[in-house]
Amino acid sequence: MTDRYSAASCQGPYGGGAGPGECGDPARFEVARHLRTPLRVCPVHLGPSLLLADGVLWPPGITLVR
Ligand SMILES: [Zn+2]
Repeated sequence: MTDRYSAASCQGPYGGGAGPGECGDPARFEVARHLRTPLRVCPVHLGPSLLLADGVLWPPGITLVR
């Protein structure tokens, strides 16, 4: 399993695990995190991940990835 490719799937809503989250939708946004790899999420989980994921910067740093 290549980490780079699986990172294209949504890791939301919490982004806590090493692997993809339960969502599995294509990721549209990348959320910057402190001392962690950026969290890639779909539009549905962008909001929840900002509030619930570990290490999210505030104000959030969000990048459109696709
Ligand atoms: Zn999602």
